[in-house]
Amino acid sequence: MFSTDSNIRECINKSVFMVTVFLLATAARGEWLLMIIYLFKEQIIGPSPTKNSALENRTTEVISESFLERWRLQNLHLMLTMSIVVSFIMFWGIGGVFQYYFYYKRRNQAADWKCQPDKFLTPENEKHEFLLGSANMLLGATVSGFIACYIVNGGYTTLYYNISDRGWLYFLASIPAFYMYIDCLAYYFHRLTHIKWLYINIHKVHHRYHQPTAFSTVAMHPAEFLLHQSYLIIVPFYFPIHVAVYIPTILYVYYYGMMDHSGINMSALWPWQPPSIFHDNHHKEGTIRYFHVNFGFNSYLFDWLHDTLRKEDRVYGEDIFGGKGQQLLSTKKSS
Ligand SMILES: [Zn+2]
Ligand SMILES: [Zn+2]
Repeated sequence: MFSTDSNIRECINKSVFMVTVFLLATAARGEWLLMIIYLFKEQIIGPSPTKNSALENRTTEVISESFLERWRLQNLHLMLTMSIVVSFIMFWGIGGVFQYYFYYKRRNQAADWKCQPDKFLTPENEKHEFLLGSANMLLGATVSGFIACYIVNGGYTTLYYNISDRGWLYFLASIPAFYMYIDCLAYYFHRLTHIKWLYINIHKVHHRYHQPTAFSTVAMHPAEFLLHQSYLIIVPFYFPIHVAVYIPTILYVYYYGMMDHSGINMSALWPWQPPSIFHDNHHKEGTIRYFHVNFGFNSYLFDWLHDTLRKEDRVYGEDIFGGKGQQLLSTKKSS
């Protein structure tokens, strides 16, 4: 009876955790504004928000208004404030709750939930990931706020809102196409940053977190952060995509990005999605290190294609580049 109760409690805890991480991921960057403001624009303001702008009634700021209008950035301050404030409330607030609930309160039961139960980030690295992650959040929320503002004000975009514009077949086909586009670029850009020079000078910042937490997700060199954001945010400018495909797919990717870095051993809901331990292993350091392997995020496909899935009989030390590791026996002999 006791074990049944604790199983139910465990199940509820994990469910609450998953939902909360999803919310955290949802608010992690500013793209959600496109969806919210789009609904707001269509249903409350109408299709031409610029004509309804309160700014037009103010004559004292004509110069700045015309500048903002020229760049389609009306109400920029509002969009940036919303994007940044919500991002930080969720990142610090909910991320902090996870830290408290799992890493502080259940620290002694780490074997029940943690990918690496015997190891935790050092306090120095905890502080580092929090500060660097927060700085990147500010960067990401600002960039996304600008883009969302530009699009909401009628700037050029290939985002579309009526499924009938391109038909159901296009709509449905664009879901796996966009998903694989993200998975493909995430794999190759990630693998690119494991080339020796790029790894040592850029990607190693992210790999200092050998036992990642949710805060590690966006704690990386700002250049790498912008690289990963760039291929997501350019899509609404060259690829016709429905807003109901674009936003949920990005949220899915953010969600599993958080899960991958949470350090909490969670199986994925979908067969194509690796469990959290897959990327946790990518960060793992110990007697056997796994650094340069398991580069993918949202499927095994590209790791499988390039034979970069972790193998039991090989070691993947930080100084063994290329994604193939070394035979365990030969390494043992030399050490
Ligand atoms: Zn890496
Ligand atoms: Zn990572």
